Amino acid sequence: MGKERSNGWTRRQALQSMAVAGAAAAWTPRGLAQDRKIGVALVGLGHYSGQLLAPALQLTKHCRLAGLVSGTPSKLGEWQGKYAIPDGNLYSYDDFHRIADNPDIDVVYIATPNHVHRSLTEVAARAGKHVWCEKPMAMDAAEGEAMIRACRDNKVQLAVGYRMQHEPNTRRFMAMAQERPFGRIIKLRADAGWFGWRDGADDAWRLDPARGGGAMYDMGVYCINAARYCTGMEPVAVQAWDETARRDVFPGVDETMRFRLEFPEDIVAECVTSFGRNLNTLQVDCERGWYTMTPFQGYEGNQGRASDGTVFAPQLGKAPRMQAEQMDHDALAIMQGTAPRAPGEEGLADLRVVDAAFASAKADGKRVEIARG
Ligand code: NAD
Repeated sequence: MGKERSNGWTRRQALQSMAVAGAAAAWTPRGLAQDRKIGVALVGLGHYSGQLLAPALQLTKHCRLAGLVSGTPSKLGEWQGKYAIPDGNLYSYDDFHRIADNPDIDVVYIATPNHVHRSLTEVAARAGKHVWCEKPMAMDAAEGEAMIRACRDNKVQLAVGYRMQHEPNTRRFMAMAQERPFGRIIKLRADAGWFGWRDGADDAWRLDPARGGGAMYDMGVYCINAARYCTGMEPVAVQAWDETARRDVFPGVDETMRFRLEFPEDIVAECVTSFGRNLNTLQVDCERGWYTMTPFQGYEGNQGRASDGTVFAPQLGKAPRMQAEQMDHDALAIMQGTAPRAPGEEGLADLRVVDAAFASAKADGKRVEIARG
């Protein structure tokens, strides 16, 4: 067991405790009474906000949808009617900074295309608002670091929308990284993808490299995050191959990426992420058995089993229950002054892998070491 909890795990623990200590030391809760609901402003009223986050906010115990930020006035009007948002809590991107003067809003939840996550986080942090930001946290690790700095400097929390880290079966798998019920972990497989993309003008950014399009940003981060939380370690190197088949459909971004992560203790994670295939499987092979989850990043029905017959039945109800759990937990972290489960450092660690994977894919699968924090 001593060997099993070697450098990687220690490092992860250190990172987490640094995040906790950092969060605690860097800001003081602004007297948020625990008997009041956290006011959340949704930024970017697209698919995820409309179909998942706004409905989830109606299910939360500790949050309420208090504000809206959008570049489309008609959407603001429509949403205002649907969710009874006061006039003073509606913002465009041009006047978003005025949110600083609005005591009704505690948190800004950023669910926009990826290339603006950083700038919107910085505006929100400067306005003194806590930030929940969707995955991938940003375009690269340098942006992720800047976001963490902005939130620290302004004494606000930063959480990444890694909803799976709030799902009970996933939390079991995370605990098994330490418990090692089947002995040493040897190999992981994590595949995450979906076929095509939704039709509609809003979504064209997923085909645009400058706006954070492509499968790696969209789904590859689920593989990376899962490989990290299932081992409790940080990967040391990556090899990646761009296996885009439909270059005519995806002229500028990766449709499919295959990548291989090297962890300490000779653990390897083989991953595939794609916009060309529906993929949703996580498998952990150990010296005395295995456990698997499929789907492992679904909005609902995430279930698994293990080689000893253990069944991990779906724990949460229908979508958007998981998003409600996530926001309630992150709201409590703000109220109680504790670290969120997936702080900015989690998003940053994944972005370091993404940076190295893109560099490797450019060099036809050359082994690239992953930057250390
Ligand atoms: P979407 O295209 O449906 O919505 C994005 C919204 O942002 C649109 O309404 C768009 O008008 C607005 N927007 C704001 N600034 C913009 C700009 N500069 N350029 C273009 N549009 C701008 O996308 P989505 O599927 O809702 O994804 C939004 C974010 O949420 C992404 O970061 C994505 O990765 C993340 N997401 C997370 C999950 C999850 O399960 N955690 C699921 C889906 C999407």
